[in-house]
Amino acid sequence: MGYKIAWIKGDGIGPEISDATLHVIEALELKYNLNFNIVFYEAGDTCLSKMGVALPSETIEGFKNSDAAIKGPVGETSMDVTVKLRQLFDLYANIRPVKNYPNIECVKSIDVVIVRENSEDLYKGLEFELENLAIALRIISEHATRRIARVAGEIAAKRKGIVTVVHKSNVLRKTCGLFSKVAKEELSNYPVKVNEIYVDAASAILIKNPDRFDVILTTNMFGDILSDEAAQIAGSLGIGPSANIGESKALFEPIHGAAPDIAGKNIANPYAMILSFKMLLDWLSDKKYDKRLKEAASTLESAVIKALNMGYKTPDIGGDKKTNEIGHFLHKLIKNL
Ligand code: ATP
Repeated sequence: MGYKIAWIKGDGIGPEISDATLHVIEALELKYNLNFNIVFYEAGDTCLSKMGVALPSETIEGFKNSDAAIKGPVGETSMDVTVKLRQLFDLYANIRPVKNYPNIECVKSIDVVIVRENSEDLYKGLEFELENLAIALRIISEHATRRIARVAGEIAAKRKGIVTVVHKSNVLRKTCGLFSKVAKEELSNYPVKVNEIYVDAASAILIKNPDRFDVILTTNMFGDILSDEAAQIAGSLGIGPSANIGESKALFEPIHGAAPDIAGKNIANPYAMILSFKMLLDWLSDKKYDKRLKEAASTLESAVIKALNMGYKTPDIGGDKKTNEIGHFLHKLIKNL
């Protein structure tokens, strides 16, 4: 029956960028004799207004029974869907590679992987109201820091071998203090050079000298913010893919949100979603020892590069192509590659 892929189209531009990606996948299936059993599940704002719940139990079950999952962005229900799925399946590593693609105007040339701790920090959602006070608890544990530091060490060892630990321990002495200490301890087991830098300085250096970074290891909220910044340095939020990885499950998604301002206009950039599927193929290939998936991933990226070089770009990256035109063109390219 092939690989079961759970798919959440999501809100805003989610359905459009999903449909473009699905069209590209059909071409990969034909070329590599692959069979993806794609099952669609509901989640997000639209789902909440239709079904009264943002993340139905069928969606959770569907994810549980899938080989891999991918989702488009959701709007205001992000905490109830994206963050909830990450927590339910302990998808503790958020991997966000950012690099330049051809023919896209960028701020600077950049090639970094942001490794963001994905299970705790302020995103645990422990918020309280006390009369005229609002309180949020920031959780940073040794266990979560060690395991995310290992992910950063492994990734950096296969790249330039530099990990920059980003935190704010001069102010958040206990939480960031623990993160910094434990991350450095754990990274000493890897053949990598370890730097550390405060998050405010990191955000400035990222714009001025992105080549000072190879792998950035950071906490949940800092990683969320820095990865949007990094994607914009590369040209657009619309080209940033990501992976949420746990011990046995993984969920892939573009880093951008539902972009309601451009929804329904067929102008959303589908490359972040398409490249998220490429990350899914790479992950599934390693998990299932299926080389066809790796080849399909590589063909998919080559097709993206070719399409960009030939001017297949949406308005956010300086083009005039429609979302679905890019899907159709990539489909054709892959068939003929
Ligand atoms: P979130 O908090 O869920 O990440 P957000 O409201 O911060 O969402 P996004 O929805 O990511 O922000 O988008 C910010 C703006 O960037 C959008 O309004 C849109 O104009 C642009 N944008 C985001 N994604 C895309 C895309 N795929 N294609 C084109 N433009 C995009």
